[in-house]
Amino acid sequence: MSYPDSSLVSIDTSHSELAEKRTNTITRHRSVFSRVNLPAGQVIAEFSAKKTYSQPSYLTVQINDQEHIELWPEYLECTNHSCDPNCFFDTTSFKFITLKPVKAGEELTFFYPSTEWNMDKAFNCFCGSEQCLGTIQGASYLSDDVISKYRFSDFIQKKLTLRKNSAE
Ligand SMILES: [Zn+2]
Repeated sequence: MSYPDSSLVSIDTSHSELAEKRTNTITRHRSVFSRVNLPAGQVIAEFSAKKTYSQPSYLTVQINDQEHIELWPEYLECTNHSCDPNCFFDTTSFKFITLKPVKAGEELTFFYPSTEWNMDKAFNCFCGSEQCLGTIQGASYLSDDVISKYRFSDFIQKKLTLRKNSAE
């Protein structure tokens, strides 16, 4: 396995054979990387709630209207957003899975609105993907056109369907 610039990252391999957290020692920016080649649909980790909150934060994943969880195992909370994600948090089965094949050493990302209806803070995305949406603020802000390109948690999908039906 090779790392792009090993002087800039500290690697925490204690959590999983499949994925690891890396921290940029200068910016403190944290990310999760694949340690091996993974096929689509691979379960990387089963997760649970380290802590549950009634309001979202930048570290939480939304489970339903009342529950936002901090993830366990903890390194999963370092999974960054991409508008072209390769992973997905299934909040029904509580499994973190790949959406497409991932190579060893590739960053694991997920689409924040796939689990978040209305994020506590919007942010400007610089993921660099061709389909980058720019401002990310939750699934409730997405157009039908954008929605059709992504997989959402069952909870978010239900809310999107309700919204669509009530608009018709
Ligand atoms: Zn983006």
